[in-house]
Amino acid sequence: MNSIDVTQIESFLIECISDSLIVVDRELNLVYANEEAKELFSLKQPERCYGSHFLQLLDKGPAEIIGEKLLKARQQNEAVYFDLYLDRKERLWFDVHLYPSEKGATILLRDITAKKQVEETIEQQNNKLRILSEAANQILVKQEPGELLESLFKELNSYLDLDVYINYMFKENTKRLELMYFHGIDEQDAEDIRYLDLGMAVCGTVARDQVRIVVENIEESTDPRVRIVKELGIKTYASYPLLSGGKLLGTLSFGSRNRTSFREEELELLDTICSQLAIMFEHTLLIMELTKKKEEAEAANAVKSNFLSMMSHELRTPLNSILGFAQILQDDSSEPPTIRQNQKLSKILKSSRHLLNLINDLLELVKSGVHDQEVKKESLSVESIVNDSLKILQLQGKEKDIRIYDRTHSCSHIHVLANRTKVNQILLNLLENAFKYTPAGGQVLIACQVEGQKLKFSVTDNGVGIPKKEQDKIFEPFYRIFHLENNIEGTGIGLTLVKQLVEQMGGSVGVKSALGFGSSFWFTLPIDGEKVSYDHTYETRGNKELVLDGLDGKILYIDDNYNDLSLLEAIFENHSRVQFISVLTGKEGMSQVTETVPPNLILLDIHLVDIHGFEVLRKLKNDPATRDIPIIAISADTSQETKSRATELGVCEFLTKPLDLTELLMTIRKYL
Ligand code: ADP
Repeated sequence: MNSIDVTQIESFLIECISDSLIVVDRELNLVYANEEAKELFSLKQPERCYGSHFLQLLDKGPAEIIGEKLLKARQQNEAVYFDLYLDRKERLWFDVHLYPSEKGATILLRDITAKKQVEETIEQQNNKLRILSEAANQILVKQEPGELLESLFKELNSYLDLDVYINYMFKENTKRLELMYFHGIDEQDAEDIRYLDLGMAVCGTVARDQVRIVVENIEESTDPRVRIVKELGIKTYASYPLLSGGKLLGTLSFGSRNRTSFREEELELLDTICSQLAIMFEHTLLIMELTKKKEEAEAANAVKSNFLSMMSHELRTPLNSILGFAQILQDDSSEPPTIRQNQKLSKILKSSRHLLNLINDLLELVKSGVHDQEVKKESLSVESIVNDSLKILQLQGKEKDIRIYDRTHSCSHIHVLANRTKVNQILLNLLENAFKYTPAGGQVLIACQVEGQKLKFSVTDNGVGIPKKEQDKIFEPFYRIFHLENNIEGTGIGLTLVKQLVEQMGGSVGVKSALGFGSSFWFTLPIDGEKVSYDHTYETRGNKELVLDGLDGKILYIDDNYNDLSLLEAIFENHSRVQFISVLTGKEGMSQVTETVPPNLILLDIHLVDIHGFEVLRKLKNDPATRDIPIIAISADTSQETKSRATELGVCEFLTKPLDLTELLMTIRKYL
């Protein structure tokens, strides 16, 4: 077997490697070059051969770097590594290793052009991504297009060496471009190019054709469209249309005074940024427009409210004097007015009151519109709300001979979250309307029902009704249906106020009506959990004023309404001279009367769940043992038939619910 010649193998390997290997002596004369090195430095040519000074084989730049590094390697007596740009036959970059030795130095050059190119591409991509992500960030953060463009331009500048950007926006009304934002040109130049027609210069052409235009080597261009940018000293210019959903918003152009061209990937980057910007511009413009409109509307509203409020105050003061003095004249007993004068005074008073109502309603409307957020809500029982309003209006109903039916008992224990004053205003308005628009002898019914998380109140009448086509309009301010034949006075504000108040408390309002048959207005309020109101805070509030002194005896109260029972129990609770017995059914009531010591007075609800009140009445009046006990009927049914029937059967008094406690006690006093 042949022995292996190591030296031969080594020299074979050195010749075959793809790196260039050079050996120089102490004077840097070439001693050895492998095949790759010969190829790299063209050493096959006769003049480039061993013995020549190695650095003279190189260009000035690389020669200086290698000379310097060789010196350093020798001084430190250790190897030195570095990257070198050589630009030789498409091989551009080399990784150089210098190994110093006694006799000179060995130089190893490895071609890393491909690696460098990959690195460069990666860096470019990174740059592009960084700029894009920066652009996205800016778009999210900056609200104002000018600010956004400025900071984006700064980013782009560091990457693209730009000097100028010019942004035109397209104006729909003039069909022209108007300069909005710019950088790198002075104010005077900007003024000169403030407006561009479509098709004019580079930007006008981009706007008209909606395609990008890139102009390079502008200095040498004879294209008339580039005259303006040429005069601005720009050498290369890229102009983009800003399009959102196919709609032209404007143009955005970038220019450099140093570069004569852009690379394709740079143009693509600008393209991407312009598309993003166009979307953002559209949103911003929309928001700016909406904000402006909102501010205008708010300002107009504030002016209107202030005006109304001022006018109302100004009008109310003299009106109060008119009313006051007219009343004084009418009531003047020392110089009483004549009949004719009195008639005229009545007219003055009537008209002034009407005017005052109108002004008060107006003020209410303005106030409730202005203080939208200030509605303070509390938990209110349905019972107390309804009682509040019915108490106020009971008289009005009686005066006009209108029967009021309260059908809210099944919900009386439910609490709603609302403002007491505002709920009263709502109910009073609806009830007053019901009275106003219902002829004498009519009926008005107030009822409640639970609907999910809301309680629905309704005020129904069998009055004149409202035509279908008017039903939406009556909630608009000052809208009235003229009731010429009835000559019903009004202001047309009541229902607007009702709607505003209901909505402020989180509810809604509506009407169902048939012309000639009647109307049913409803509104909802949020329920505050279902709890029974045992406390009767509202009704017993006036208890201190209720005089019980002198009352003595036993009272039996028969009523299936637990709340009403509790109310009266609470009144007599601390009055030891009155023995107050309450029962929920007619049957229990009968046994109380017959089986124990008979009461001195019976309070009897007519509508009992087990036996009808009339039946109880008949039995008591037919029994000699009980026939003389006075009976006071109490009922929510205010109908004349019920009253007459009860009287026929022997009740001595008939009281209606909701109970007026003072009236009740006065009545009780008659019999105890
Ligand atoms: P006003 O009653 O002062 O005219 P409103 O705003 O309260 O103002 O009502 C607006 C209009 O709605 C009234 O002019 C009337 O035509 C109609 N309207 C309101 N309530 C009723 C009702 N219960 N029955 C019939 N029409 C009604």
